[in-house]
This record gives sequence, C-alpha cells and structure tokens, in this order.
Amino acid sequence: MSVLSDSQRMEKIVSLCKRRGFIFQSSEIYGGLNGLWDYGPLGVELKRNLKNYWWRVMVHERDDVVGMDGSILMNRAVWKASGHEDTFTDPMVDCRSCKARLRADQIVEKKGAKQCPVCGGKDLTEPRSFNLMFKTYVGATEDESSVTYLRPETAQAIFAQFKNVLDVSRKKLPFGIAQIGKAFRNEINPRNFTFRSREFEQMELEYFCRAEEGIKLLEYWKEERLKFYGNIGIARDKLHVLTVPDEERAFYSKGLTTSNMIFRSVDRSSKASLIGPTTICRSIKRPAANRSNISMRKRNRNSFRTWSSRALESIARCWL
Ligand SMILES: [Zn+2]
Repeated sequence: MSVLSDSQRMEKIVSLCKRRGFIFQSSEIYGGLNGLWDYGPLGVELKRNLKNYWWRVMVHERDDVVGMDGSILMNRAVWKASGHEDTFTDPMVDCRSCKARLRADQIVEKKGAKQCPVCGGKDLTEPRSFNLMFKTYVGATEDESSVTYLRPETAQAIFAQFKNVLDVSRKKLPFGIAQIGKAFRNEINPRNFTFRSREFEQMELEYFCRAEEGIKLLEYWKEERLKFYGNIGIARDKLHVLTVPDEERAFYSKGLTTSNMIFRSVDRSSKASLIGPTTICRSIKRPAANRSNISMRKRNRNSFRTWSSRALESIARCWL
C-alpha cells in the first residue's frame, strides 16, 4: 500500500467530511469563498453536542461560573482600548517575482539571503502590517465615525460587561464568565481546512481571581481542561502540555500553559495544527472592569498566534 503524503491525507479528510455531511465549503456552487465552511446535517450535531457538553460542564455544573452572550459588533473604542486596532496584525511580505503574499515568518532564509518559499525569488518587499480584523460600518454612512469590526475574539464582551455581570450574579472572586460565539479573523492565507479559517467559533472562559491566587488556579484549570478532553474521548497521550517560557509570553501574562492536541502534520509552520486550550494567567491587578484595565491587555500578537489554535472551529480558552 502506498503511503499518503500530508496533503493527500488532508484531501481525503476534507472529501470524507463532505461526503458524510459534516463540513461543506461555504458558497460552493458559486465557486466558494476561501477560509469559510458550512456545517452539514451531521456536522452541526457534532458541533452542538460539543458546545452543549462544554456549557454543561463549565457553567451549569459549577457554582463559580456564569454565562453570557455578547454581540459580535461592539463600539470601536473597545478594539482601540484592547490594542487590537493597533496591534492585532501580521507582518506581510510580497514577492515581486511570483506575487505571492506571505507572512513574514514564512520567509525562508538561505545562506543569509531571504527567499520566497513559493518561487525561490529574492525580490521581496519590506514587511508591512496587515490588520486581521474584518472592518465594517454601522449605520447608513460609510465614514471613519461609523467604523467597527467583526470581533476577532469573544473575550472583550466579557471584560466590557464584567461590572454588570458582577452586580447581578452575586459572585465573589474567584469566579468566571463563559461565552460561546463566533469570531472572525481575516487570515491572509487560510488553509488546512478548518484549522485556519476566517470565521470560527470559540468556547471561552475568563476566570477572575486575586493576583496571588493566579498561578495556583492556572494549574487547577490546566487539569480541568485535560479532564474535559479525556471525557470527550481524546487520549491523554495525544495531548501535549506545554508551559510557555517567560520570554515568549505576552506582557500581561504571568503564566501560560497550552495543552495541544497533536494532529499529524497539519500545519507545521505555525503550530496551528494544535488544538487549544491555552490557559493564561494574566497580570490584571483588579478584576477588569473598566477601560484602563482593558487597555492593559494590549496583546502580543506573535505570542498569541503561536500558542492559540483551533480545530473543528472550536477553541476552548481558559484565561485566568
Ligand atoms: Zn515568489
């Protein structure tokens, strides 16, 4: 029997998912749209089962977590304050020879010279930032004052509503707010099926605690995540728990572990093959309730890209 290459294997998975009614390409009869997927009759059941189970375990069966469901569009000020408008970017390089547009970290270096990984050309532009948020306009006029973005993560609604949730839920620290919802990223090179798509769904818990409890709770949530993955049938030996070294963490992070699901050779270049969750202990002194706290969370995009990831549109991120 011949051995399949990685791309042949991926093709087989994509076509199996289509034939069995799990996942179809979005707008396929009109030629499709890259990086977007529709879930078919079986796919939607699988996804719903997973979401329902996550919600049951994370919210209904716990006394210290409540849920919420935030809007996808938010005031632009949120994305300014969170740092997304300025820093949620990927540096991009264009190859003048073959016109390929590449993330700067995909450029290969041979004998000290930078080369296009597609054609081998050396005529490359300087890196330029490209914001990954989808821009849109609210209301009838399309000008600067009406700009906002499709949310690139679900966390911001949780932070922005922290005070309201605290007031009505009678919770005391430590407690968490969970949310499941769509997020959007205008990936330059969506690829590898649902592993890097432009629209996806996140399952997210923000767990708020006093700073001195952070690292202990980080350990606790890491174990909880591993238990969860065991319960949905992922063998422990397929999970790889990584403690991210100090120098690779974002500045707001006091500790970060990520338990990755090992998928075979899906996306070696960016580790996007690996399923989250990431468990981050953020250095927020008080519970994030106001804008100045949110702005502390200005993120380090590189660390985010490397350590968060998706699979089957689902990320479970536990942020402490
Ligand atoms: Zn090229």
